Amino acid sequence: MNDFEEMIAKLLNSDSKDIESVNTVKDENGTAVYVSLKRKEFLCDRCRKPMVLNGTFKRALVVPDRAFENIRVFIKARRYRCFHCGNSRSDIGHMSPANKKASYASIIEIMDLLKDPHMTFKAVSDITGIPETTVIRIFDTHCHIPRIRLPEILCIDEVYTKNSDYKSKYSCILYDFRKHNVADVLPSRRKDYLHMYLTGIRKEERDCVKYLCIDMYLPYKEIALTYFKKAIICVDSFHVVKHLNDDLNRLRIRYMKSYDPSSQEYYLLNRFRFLLLDRSVDLDNKARFNKRLQRYLNYRDLLELILSIHSEIRTAYELKEEYIAFNSSFSYEEAQENIDILIDDFIGADIREYEEFVTLLRNWKAEIINSFIRIDGIRINNGVAESINETISLIIYITKGIRNSERRRKRIMYSINKNGFNLR
Ligand SMILES: [Zn+2]
Repeated sequence: MNDFEEMIAKLLNSDSKDIESVNTVKDENGTAVYVSLKRKEFLCDRCRKPMVLNGTFKRALVVPDRAFENIRVFIKARRYRCFHCGNSRSDIGHMSPANKKASYASIIEIMDLLKDPHMTFKAVSDITGIPETTVIRIFDTHCHIPRIRLPEILCIDEVYTKNSDYKSKYSCILYDFRKHNVADVLPSRRKDYLHMYLTGIRKEERDCVKYLCIDMYLPYKEIALTYFKKAIICVDSFHVVKHLNDDLNRLRIRYMKSYDPSSQEYYLLNRFRFLLLDRSVDLDNKARFNKRLQRYLNYRDLLELILSIHSEIRTAYELKEEYIAFNSSFSYEEAQENIDILIDDFIGADIREYEEFVTLLRNWKAEIINSFIRIDGIRINNGVAESINETISLIIYITKGIRNSERRRKRIMYSINKNGFNLR
């Protein structure tokens, strides 16, 4: 056996000793490979009697052609029959699932490639030379992912899914906070769907959820109170802070627009907006010469100039900083003691853009305080969700939105959890 024949044997899930001959014919469509097998003796698996040769047939098999250009494989196969009980079999059962053209080798290769969330069905088709429709069919057939049991700490988040065949713009993702995997993907985050879904899960299982982390989408809270009576509900602090930052940004825009675009105020509020919003900036950097303002300034100087534009900008900025300090350093007990003072500060400032945030703090007070509870030293948050969400958004972007919601669910769970592949 040469290397090529060894490779063909491997692609056919066979031992090269069992192969009689391999002949290749090249034509304009690529390479046709004709394989014939050595004759074997089989015992009937029902009655252990010897089986008798009962004809031959030709079978075309799909194999990945990574190593070759447009390879087509044809096997000369034999059919055997047990004349005692009528049982029959072929000698190529180990090459592919019964009566299927796709070889085990191609199924394994396809499923392996699809573990990578960057991989589209089309890209897998290009790599393996197997048509995209076949790749999708193989994925649908061999990926079986049941719902995973609800975890003790459950995070619920959503991703925007355009082109869904379901009447919903958002898919709802259930995550396991501890294991960092996806427990399920629901085609909708609508209340009626969530009701239907959760009614289908036994109460005993739902009652095992001890913590539930959600964003501030009201139906989630209603659902949580109805179906997770034993769980402590937390809101994801990331979403709270993001809301506040967006509000401050709206205030910045309101002030900016009140000035002439050629003014220094407009320049500062526009060009240096990140100083108000981005906390990762080092304010005490080395001063640089600013041509517009004709002097040396570092970021702290520039921020001070922005805050001096109007006392409301300063107040809004300081309140935001106060909230972030509260959010990032307080213990559960401190959060409980201080949240009312904080809410009063926001009310007292009477800033138009913060009205919604004040309502949010009032409506979600208990859930915000709960978000300060630490599990193994880490606050319960949707951070796991956010990072997995990036992967999901990537899959959805790359696959241009898989329309079929069951296929989308499986594609997401398979590339994140990396299991659910079955050769049967
Ligand atoms: Zn038999």
